[in-house]
Amino acid sequence: RTPPARNPAGSPQAILETVFGYPAFRGDQQQIIDHVVAGGDALVLMPTGGGKSLCYQIPALVREGVGVVISPLIALMKDQVDALEAVGVRAAFLNSTQGPDDRREVESALAAGEVDLLYMAPERVTVPSTGELLDRLTVSLFAIDEAHCVSQWGHDFRPDYLALSMLHEHWPRVPRIALTATATAATATEIQQRLQLEQARTFVSSFDRPNIQYRIEPKNQPVQQLLQLIRTEHPGDAGIVYCLSRASVEKTAAALVDNGISALPYHAGLDARTRSDHQSRFLREDGIVMVATIAFGMGIDKPDVRFVAHLDLPKSVEGYYQETGRAGRDGLPSTAWLAYGLQDVVQQRQMIDRSEGNAAYKRRMGQLLDAMLALCETVECRRVQLLAYFGQQSEPCGNCDTCLAPPESFDGTVPAQKLLSTIVRLDRERRQRYGAGQLIDILLGKRTPRVEQLGHADLATFGIGTELTEQEWRGVVRQLLAQGLLAVHGDGYGTLVITEASAEVLTGGRVVRLRREVARPTRSSKRSAP
Ligand code: ADP
Ligand code: ZN
Repeated sequence: RTPPARNPAGSPQAILETVFGYPAFRGDQQQIIDHVVAGGDALVLMPTGGGKSLCYQIPALVREGVGVVISPLIALMKDQVDALEAVGVRAAFLNSTQGPDDRREVESALAAGEVDLLYMAPERVTVPSTGELLDRLTVSLFAIDEAHCVSQWGHDFRPDYLALSMLHEHWPRVPRIALTATATAATATEIQQRLQLEQARTFVSSFDRPNIQYRIEPKNQPVQQLLQLIRTEHPGDAGIVYCLSRASVEKTAAALVDNGISALPYHAGLDARTRSDHQSRFLREDGIVMVATIAFGMGIDKPDVRFVAHLDLPKSVEGYYQETGRAGRDGLPSTAWLAYGLQDVVQQRQMIDRSEGNAAYKRRMGQLLDAMLALCETVECRRVQLLAYFGQQSEPCGNCDTCLAPPESFDGTVPAQKLLSTIVRLDRERRQRYGAGQLIDILLGKRTPRVEQLGHADLATFGIGTELTEQEWRGVVRQLLAQGLLAVHGDGYGTLVITEASAEVLTGGRVVRLRREVARPTRSSKRSAP
């Protein structure tokens, strides 16, 4: 491999223009770069698409020696290095996908001083041989990308990240810059502590993505709803559809293809070749809809993704924000659309219950889910709620579903009491617990075979809930779950139980506000940004 010529050393601004071809820095880039060039440590909290890469790439070019970039995204390293080499930056990577020959070649290029940026996986940095290699070189900086992976409570925890505190101990004089798109105060503090970055200057960008329209609606017939979204608002557009399971990825992709949409599946169960083939088609061709599990997307830089749709509930607001953040990196109007239903809540609670973690872990996962549910059920501006989660205040945005069509809320105390007392009666009188379906059948007075068999028509609450439809009842159950007035029992069957807070509702001491479920008209005019 022939290394490109030595980089044109120069000021950050000159490098920005001549190497990367951009006229001006964005947001905090310039300050961050100046700080790191001067040898300072930095913690950078910047949303996806904000331009984090230049914050370490340019200092690595300005400072003497090789900049070591630690990233968990092994699959993308080659692309990142290729992209840098294409603009004449001398970059290389070391990871487990390489054979010994490739590795030796990189090592001799490093020894010859021909590399300005070296990408590495976290598990590699901490092995002794890498330490010896780096000790023989001048390291200009350490960049720790996706730094939230160090957070044990986060959704992307990588144990290898914990060992990165050794960087500071072993190379105390080399500046470090940690970067993440996750910005809750708790995560930031955890990153600082675990990576010994307490002295680092912290740069927090605005997390608002004004061009993204946030919409969350009840899930009825998810594929039909998705088709409606694509046909009326995004025909021919590139998009990402997230599903929770591999099976639903396959099913959804097939359904879209049947309906004439260029959709491709992506999940960890596909072989590596199919995955990389689908990924490169998504990046290179126009108008591909990628149907994927969350295995897809980290580090993907496609500017014109016009919509991100979730057919299942994300596990946390951080996850939701990162995934939706892949829409509209070019700044043009884009849609973040989520369909979520009662089953999502039950399923996620069960997944947490069954997970391997200890009680503290489960509690933390439950809190992350609760925050996500609160975002789904809010009657206020989605963006205000989303940004507040990241500690940033804002005004109602005018570009989310709740701003555009303020949801009606109603006093749901009586329906809530009917549902809760049905649960209490079944438990007290019969020592039985049920899921939402049976409870709703009882409230609606449906004489199904199961109702007959179990003798549920004899219950005092049988048929007392005919003022609401089945769908509306599902909305009530979902919202009570979100508000902590109902809980999923840990028996693994998704049965529902009351909570401590339910007692207050049953005794009339607490009013329950619910949002009315309405079939929302979808926007017909495409890309009419409000
Ligand atoms: P992040 O890592 O924060 O998600 P990237 O570093 O991948 O974001 O940058 C997102 C996109 O913005 C890339 O296409 C990048 O080339 C572009 N970009 C970054 N900084 C600038 C800038 N100052 N001017 C124009 N485009 C930029
Ligand atoms: Zn809004």
